[in-house]
Amino acid sequence: MDFNLTEHQRAFQQTARDFAQDRLAPNAGRWDEERHFPAAELREACALGFGGIYVDEAHGGTGLSRLDAALIFEELARADPSTTAFLTIHNMVAGMIARFGSDEQRQRFLPDILSGATFVSYCLTEPGSGSDAAALKTRATPDGNSHYRVNGSKAFISGAGASGLYVTMVRTGEDGPRGISCMVIESDTNGLSFGRPERKMGWNSQPTATVSFHDCRVPVANRLGPEGAGFKYAMAGLDGGRINIAACSLGGAQACLDAALAHVKQRRAFGKTLADFQALQFKLADMATELEAARLMVHRAAVALDRGEPDAGMRCAMAKRYATDACSHICDEALQLHGGYGYIHDYQVERFVRDLRVHRILEGTNEIMRVIIARKLLEAA
Ligand SMILES: Cc1cc2nc3c(=O)[nH]c(=O)nc-3n(C[C@H](O)[C@H](O)[C@H](O)COP(=O)(O)OP(=O)(O)OC[C@H]3O[C@@H](n4cnc5c(N)ncnc54)[C@H](O)[C@@H]3O)c2cc1C
Repeated sequence: MDFNLTEHQRAFQQTARDFAQDRLAPNAGRWDEERHFPAAELREACALGFGGIYVDEAHGGTGLSRLDAALIFEELARADPSTTAFLTIHNMVAGMIARFGSDEQRQRFLPDILSGATFVSYCLTEPGSGSDAAALKTRATPDGNSHYRVNGSKAFISGAGASGLYVTMVRTGEDGPRGISCMVIESDTNGLSFGRPERKMGWNSQPTATVSFHDCRVPVANRLGPEGAGFKYAMAGLDGGRINIAACSLGGAQACLDAALAHVKQRRAFGKTLADFQALQFKLADMATELEAARLMVHRAAVALDRGEPDAGMRCAMAKRYATDACSHICDEALQLHGGYGYIHDYQVERFVRDLRVHRILEGTNEIMRVIIARKLLEAA
């Protein structure tokens, strides 16, 4: 067991840190306020190889591991968890196409995804099914031999309207998970439309909206794998997605801890700096300890996924559950340590509090993480 990063890992971690400081940090507050989607900066990130971090080099990707991706996403999220989170979804879907698509589909879709010329969204949730995703109702029925006709709608889709491709879970067969297939739907498909962008507590640098399909003709050639495999692919994508989101939480929490440390050293009360009060020192010690524990869990789960360990899914759920809860708490404590200033936009901590809050809800809520962990424990008992 080696906890040291390799020279290579330190090098791309530094690349991510530099990019985050130069291109994300100076703008993140404004993007949040103006609800601006930074397509140009995301493309710059893709040019650094961050558009398909764990897509094999043979398929045009960067060919790094899930652990490497976690290191990169943590660095980017120290500046901007919202924009980084969108990049993680883009990577998750790129990874699904690389892993489950045919050679023809990889050649058709991946080059533009990896370069950032096309962004990709992941469409599982529906207005009537979130946690119970296998109850989804969007239906694809055969339309001749070469097409499906897709009808239904997807809720809360990150990147809706900005993405060129929508990797969508649809029902092609029976009720339940085995009747679900996965298809790539292009944004210019007739009958595809977007709802009004949701007004959200955070994640404001990326749009979230409903995606509706009304008699959309989708080529059979756009289906990933066989009919009925879609739910398995969707869940496999999410295992990695959960590590990625957890890594975004690590970055946000690290930024808030750094800000809190700087603040307590310069802010004075009762004739001392805040850093002189042991009650506040203990708070900082707990924040740093929780962050270290969360990081270790995320890295351990990433390694489990890289190695294809049988309990990787459970480890991803544990890491996502713990890291997103702990890091959300760390950001909130940092806000408290800033006193009234923590509540003010200019100090940025409140943006991290808002951005990290949703990590406890999406890519499977933290209650659903407990369902996954408990199921695996009881199976093995
Ligand atoms: C900003 C944002 C972006 C998103 N982006 C995407 C995206 O890109 N693609 C996508 O497909 N989805 C996306 N989602 C949707 C997200 O994944 C869902 O909101 C989430 O899975 C929860 O589903 P729900 O909102 O329907 O809540 P529900 O399933 O209705 O859950 C409500 C509450 O009940 C709890 N609960 C439900 N079932 C159980 C149970 N069995 N045991 C214990 N507790 C339970 C939940 O944990 C939750 O606390 C996004 C959501 C948001 C807010």
